[in-house]
Amino acid sequence: MDMNENDRLFFEREYDLVIENGTVIDPKTEMRTIANVAVAEGKIAGITRVPLKAKRVIDAAGKIVCPGIIDPHSHADGQLFSAHVMANMGVTSIVVGSCGLGPYPVPEFLKGLDDEGYPINTAALTPESWILRERAGITSPYEAATEKQIAQMADWAEEDLLGGAIGVSFGLEYAPATKWDEMVALAKVAAKYDKVMPIHSRAGGWNSLEATREVIKLQEATGVRVLLSHHVYQCGQGMMEESLKIIEKAYRQGYKIGVDSGAYCDFACPVGSEVFCEGWQDIYDCTYHDILAGTGKYAGQRLTKETFEEMRANDPDGSVTAFVGKPYEVALALKQPYTMISTDGGFPNLAPGLGHPQSAGSYPKILRELVREQDVLTVMDFVKKSSWMPAQFFGIENKGYLGTGADADILIFDLKTVKENATFPGLGDPMAAPDGIEYVIVNGVPVIDGGQVNREVRPGRSMPSQTRVWRL
Ligand SMILES: [Zn+2]
Repeated sequence: MDMNENDRLFFEREYDLVIENGTVIDPKTEMRTIANVAVAEGKIAGITRVPLKAKRVIDAAGKIVCPGIIDPHSHADGQLFSAHVMANMGVTSIVVGSCGLGPYPVPEFLKGLDDEGYPINTAALTPESWILRERAGITSPYEAATEKQIAQMADWAEEDLLGGAIGVSFGLEYAPATKWDEMVALAKVAAKYDKVMPIHSRAGGWNSLEATREVIKLQEATGVRVLLSHHVYQCGQGMMEESLKIIEKAYRQGYKIGVDSGAYCDFACPVGSEVFCEGWQDIYDCTYHDILAGTGKYAGQRLTKETFEEMRANDPDGSVTAFVGKPYEVALALKQPYTMISTDGGFPNLAPGLGHPQSAGSYPKILRELVREQDVLTVMDFVKKSSWMPAQFFGIENKGYLGTGADADILIFDLKTVKENATFPGLGDPMAAPDGIEYVIVNGVPVIDGGQVNREVRPGRSMPSQTRVWRL
């Protein structure tokens, strides 16, 4: 063989890990081919069809080898059980602090993760609606912030961004008294550094179109990079087509917006939250019986007026699922070229047998249903929407693609057998691990190894954001 010195070094070296003969899918170059992926020191050292030597070889013949999944909307918030549940379905990185709820201050939270070790990579948003508002002394979601409180919250958000937060999040539905001035002040801080502002919009049901318009208006007014969070949960009660029209129009005008959406049409939220404000049955066109308890003493039961009110009074952080969605609107949202895939999963109070199947089933469900069975998405679409797009939108470097120098966050799965086993409490285990997810490698280390969780390893790293004043 005739080769130069660099090539000789590349081919003769012994790697930490080589993944052999898999069907390699790279969303950055849109390449799909059979190749060997070499890993050394937590990075991808190269991809080639020539056989390579390694301390460990994984045979991936017949399997898909793609970048690990980046979930742009998680609530795992540092919890270990949630990290293993997410890893089980192929997730190697998450963005937490969504919906205005999560750990704060972000720099301390990220440092804590790195000190303790965590199975997957984590970036964190500064949570506004629940956390900064509370810190500012606002005691009720129906209390408007004063000018002074708004200025204070903007200062805290800026400090957090400079310390490594990846953006600032709103959960407007949870804090109905959030006024336009408050939104603009916080958005301007995020925009100054070109950080993402994920927004759980103001309301679902028949209010959801106005809520979508409000998010787009915030982009227009401030230039901030907005992300419409878990869009199927906001508009998937029959308003999806209309909402997508509004978004498409904004795209045609060049607005800087993103959309994330998940695998399920029925959302989960804390039972004590403002989702169940005065008139919720009208807003969502539903009754008490459409609400399923996910945690607490009624877990697995449909609620009645009595049990709902008792749970809301005594267990306000308890999770419930509202069966108010239209299943066909899941695919409608996901097939749009601008939509990335998210879970809204991994709540900190998760435990075996409890919660919503989104935490353990989202990505395998989409692979089974929308990729394999219904041909709504191609495999390349899936990989792009679950890795490259979130990495690009949030500015996460070295992730979301397979190429020399990228972090070795890699998913190996079997497209012929992949399926979710998670289901709603009362019907089965919402935390059940899926089939077909064989290896999930984080910074070069398998966290899921031959389909099994390796609880001994914590190769995840925090992903503090580089923060610089935005300049074109
Ligand atoms: Zn939310």
